[in-house]
Amino acid sequence: MWPVYGHNTAVHLLQRTLPSPLADNSSQRGFGGPRHAYLLVGAQGIGKSTLAQVYAQALLCTEPSDRPCGVCRSCRLIRSGNHPDFRLVAPVDREGAVDRSAGLLRVEQAATIIRDSILSPLEGRYKIFLLQDMQQANESFANKLLKTLEEPPAHVILLLTATERTQLLPTIVSRCQVIEMQPIAPTVIEQALGQHWQAEPKQAQLLARLAGGRLGWAVTQLHNAKFDAERQEQLEALWRLAAANRIQRLAFSEQTAAKGSQPQLFNMLELWTTWWRDVLLAQANCIDACSNIDLREEIARQAAHLSQETVQKYIQTLKRIEGYLHHTTNTRMALDVLLLQLPRIV
Ligand SMILES: [Zn+2]
Repeated sequence: MWPVYGHNTAVHLLQRTLPSPLADNSSQRGFGGPRHAYLLVGAQGIGKSTLAQVYAQALLCTEPSDRPCGVCRSCRLIRSGNHPDFRLVAPVDREGAVDRSAGLLRVEQAATIIRDSILSPLEGRYKIFLLQDMQQANESFANKLLKTLEEPPAHVILLLTATERTQLLPTIVSRCQVIEMQPIAPTVIEQALGQHWQAEPKQAQLLARLAGGRLGWAVTQLHNAKFDAERQEQLEALWRLAAANRIQRLAFSEQTAAKGSQPQLFNMLELWTTWWRDVLLAQANCIDACSNIDLREEIARQAAHLSQETVQKYIQTLKRIEGYLHHTTNTRMALDVLLLQLPRIV
């Protein structure tokens, strides 16, 4: 059993590639052995890096069976981030500090990977690189990395993660085995939060439903002391704006846009989308399936005020504007549209 919640298909696929422990120490690339590059694709917080790290542990584990054992020297070194044959490469800011939200994978990092990959592994039979958030690779990083992907040394395994494969160069994608990570069922997330992270039952249930299949997101929020207050504030803003006039809505848009297109804005839009989906569920008499399980009364109240068509149309607007905000610098204009089209509930 791998220490991974959900993702059964991906886990089975990777488990089948583990080389036989009876084989000699030279790296194997034949039938059943690992490929030289995998691309794990899925939403932020869905568990791509967790799975990649467990796979690396399994490949380098020195136990004869049930790899990764979790306790051998190699498994422990990977967990503590100190294994000489396992490198984690994440987007960095201009000064070289890890910045997963706004940083880039830069050409200097690709040069280091190429230099490292030529050297033989020090302890295990493989040298494994986990490259996080390939959608944030700049063009020179991607182009330089391609050389290693085209002719990798036999002992090198590259594990790439990305939120969407369409954001990567097709030449990179085509050289990897792509593994699409599926959302984890809310019941599995709820159980994991309770058992592994000691969440209170009510909190585990709410976070599991809001997580959209991303256990990593749920765990982050569980440890975020401001989560409840921020959620409350973002939902109350939504309800207030639904009752507000045009001038008040545009004033909110102006204030929000002034803060720029930061992660908090996307969190708010995500929560708002979840909210309107809940309203739609209530309108379809499926309120028990809603995400904001603690606010069923307010969901039902709003559902009764609007037509299904209005809510559906607004969910589409939210999705469109969210996509637009990832690429535009004109946050203000996008938010104006979003606020002016918000259904009116008095
Ligand atoms: Zn081990």
